Amino acid sequence: MEIIFYIALVIVIIWSFSVQGRLKSLVKKYSKVESTSGKTANECVDEMLRRNGVYGVTVDHVPGELTDNYNPKENKIYLSDSVYGHSTITAIAIAAHECGHACQASDGWAPYKIRQLIAPFAGFASKASVWIAMGGIFLMYLSTRSSNMSYQLGFTVCTLGIVLYTVVFLFYLVTLPIERNASKRGLEVMQECGWVSDDQLKAAKKVLWAAGDTYAVALASSALTLLSLLLRRGRARK
Ligand SMILES: [Zn+2]
Repeated sequence: MEIIFYIALVIVIIWSFSVQGRLKSLVKKYSKVESTSGKTANECVDEMLRRNGVYGVTVDHVPGELTDNYNPKENKIYLSDSVYGHSTITAIAIAAHECGHACQASDGWAPYKIRQLIAPFAGFASKASVWIAMGGIFLMYLSTRSSNMSYQLGFTVCTLGIVLYTVVFLFYLVTLPIERNASKRGLEVMQECGWVSDDQLKAAKKVLWAAGDTYAVALASSALTLLSLLLRRGRARK
């Protein structure tokens, strides 16, 4: 089992580097290509939201690259340096993707709602769970020559940490289809509204799919973390 874990770990690490590299190169390449319509990302956001009957969402600038996001609490779409006010293929694709999230929220789409419910808890769990589990394992090792009670306590603490980490894993599990769906919604509108040519649409799809792959990597990494905690607990058992 352990050997399979380490092989999977190496595969995920290599996959992660290749996904990051591909995303960066695609974003760089298509950030230089102006869309055939000449529309800016901001104009596309307005049009897509109107088409979907989504009102009250505002657009703002956020510094950095690939920092774009939709904030459901503020009801705001944040567009990054190379997206806000730009009319390149990358800019329009990313803006349409973020609109996709605003539409998911507006529709009350079930997976999106589930993620919003899990998100605050997953944030805490991602910070605390591994430490709790490792603390439990430490206690299990310490107690091998002493009392059975502290061993049981260590086992319970470790299991609590693993249960907490399962919430993190579920968060990533639900995030991947949400990201793919936001891209799908964005690409459909890009095509229907003719913001880009057919060839440019293919390029936009490549950019958004590569961005979505980063969530697939995150899901695989969290599955491996979960597996590693289970293996460590198994090794610490009396
Ligand atoms: Zn997204």
